[in-house]
Amino acid sequence: MIPYGCQAITEADIAAVEAVLHSDFLTQGPAVPRFEQAVAAKVGAAHGVAVNSATSALHLACRALDLGPGDWLWTSPNTFVASANCARYCGARVDFVDIDPDTYNLSVEALAAKLEQADKTGQLPKIVIPVHFAGQPCDMAAIGELGRRYGFRIIEDASHAIGAHCDGEPVGNGRHSAITVFSFHPVKLITTGEGGLATTNNPDLAERMSRLRSHGITRDPARMQGEPAGPWDYEQIELGYNYRMTDMQAALGLSQLQRLDDYIARRQALAERYDQRLAELPVRTPYQDPKHRSALHLYSIQVADGATRANSFQALRDAGIGVNVHSIPVHTQPDYQRLGFAKGDYPVAEAYYERAISLPLYPGLTEAQQDRVCLHLNEALP
Ligand SMILES: *Cc1c(COP(=O)(O)O)cnc(C)c1O
Repeated sequence: MIPYGCQAITEADIAAVEAVLHSDFLTQGPAVPRFEQAVAAKVGAAHGVAVNSATSALHLACRALDLGPGDWLWTSPNTFVASANCARYCGARVDFVDIDPDTYNLSVEALAAKLEQADKTGQLPKIVIPVHFAGQPCDMAAIGELGRRYGFRIIEDASHAIGAHCDGEPVGNGRHSAITVFSFHPVKLITTGEGGLATTNNPDLAERMSRLRSHGITRDPARMQGEPAGPWDYEQIELGYNYRMTDMQAALGLSQLQRLDDYIARRQALAERYDQRLAELPVRTPYQDPKHRSALHLYSIQVADGATRANSFQALRDAGIGVNVHSIPVHTQPDYQRLGFAKGDYPVAEAYYERAISLPLYPGLTEAQQDRVCLHLNEALP
């Protein structure tokens, strides 16, 4: 089976993890801050906070921005459930903004229209989470402008987009957002097994996320209410979690990060090869905006209709091609239907989903394997 995505682990990665296993610290040691600084430097942000998943990073980002009961968070329905669930962890309400039919990212026009409406009813969102779907950056300049106008904060869900560039600048540098979140799950661009990281330029947000990652505990005498009883003393000053990343994970991530640009170049080359080979087929190849550099986390094509998708998906799986589908619109999940959402609410995202197939794309995919994928796709399509 050729999978749709797959990690690449080198001997250097294994040696880096092994070195941590021989060291004094398996967690809360020096590898985590080293990884945080390396990612922050790579994406041009002042601070990085590493955690055990992007889901945790999204939760901490919402907490650090004081999202709570009575607040609204808006995101795109064309994403993984975690982009919306983070609001509900904080007791806030979720709403969605449909996607753009060309870019498959949150539609800036739909966002502007919905904000205008919400402004009239006093239901403006506190946070908007644009998702850089498949690694293709959203129009952050336009979303940032709306954020200033309507007073909402922005968390970029860049789980698909470490290494991507938006208007020539790295995603994660926080030019248009308060916080950016990355995922290091094995199917993503680089991996730590499980893991995530939040970048920000705001030292207070970084400190708050670091504290919430570790139970809301501080050892900083300046933050403590009383005099420390001794060097052992700490205070829990708010309710936090254990969302820490281990040093083994951080060492793996640091080693992987060295190859991020090579991996994206490889994904780009494979994507161009797909574009050429699929040009004659009745499919729509992924959107690429020349203004931005996609990280190409996914190579998702659009086929003619839902029936074609179902049939060709099955034929490809039967041929040993591990195709997948991204993303099931979040509002169609039963747990969201219970909140009042229904099929039909976001027709562009639903139409995209109906026709989507993600073809295999990862650095270790060979050209021979890719040709096999194209051959079987050709046979599978009507
Ligand atoms: C994978 C993913 C997440 C969650 O990442 P984890 O590290 O698995 O928690 C969140 N948002 C998007 C868009 C994702 O693809």
